[in-house]
Amino acid sequence: MVPPRFNLSTTWYFATAEKVQTDSFLMVDGESRGPIVNLIAMDQVCSTFAPPGMQLLSITTLIPCNENEVKAHLRLMIGKLPKDLQLIKEYHIPRSLPGFPPNHIRSNFLQISDELFIAGDYLCGPSQNGALLSGRLAAEAAIS
Ligand SMILES: Cc1cc2nc3c(=O)[nH]c(=O)nc-3n(C[C@H](O)[C@H](O)[C@H](O)COP(=O)(O)OP(=O)(O)OC[C@H]3O[C@@H](n4cnc5c(N)ncnc54)[C@H](O)[C@@H]3O)c2cc1C
Repeated sequence: MVPPRFNLSTTWYFATAEKVQTDSFLMVDGESRGPIVNLIAMDQVCSTFAPPGMQLLSITTLIPCNENEVKAHLRLMIGKLPKDLQLIKEYHIPRSLPGFPPNHIRSNFLQISDELFIAGDYLCGPSQNGALLSGRLAAEAAIS
């Protein structure tokens, strides 16, 4: 079973000595004012994810966009851009996640033979939830 299409995603890593984020929550823009889907301060998640005194922002976008567009949206989300904000690296992943049209997310796995089962997000839904559900269903089928 092949998913109808894949979606792209880009992860942008920015560094700054300013503490833009002081918590470890995933931040979203409820008004969708730009390409950023979410951002999180990795150093707040784990202190060793950035050098001491530095903040590492991880930003996800799902549409093609450039650094200036990301920064413009970031400014709207956090109020003011740090002067020393520096793009460290961007990772474009063209086939990042299986794309499902609305209402096509379903509970599924594949059984190839008595001993061979296939599970994955592309069979259920494009998230860890989908991957785990598909794996659970496959495991339950294998046990039974
Ligand atoms: C940038 C990004 C951010 C994400 N953020 C979130 C999030 O915040 N929340 C969320 O719920 N989900 C998120 N997801 C989605 C989530 O990561 C995936 O849906 C989930 O990891 C899929 O799990 P999976 O086991 O189906 O597949 P995968 O995690 O892709 O595992 C498949 C494994 O099979 C291996 N493999 C492939 N081909 C072969 C082969 N021929 N032989 C041997 N091994 C092979 C691969 O190397 C890989 O390790 C994100 C995904 C991306 C890319």
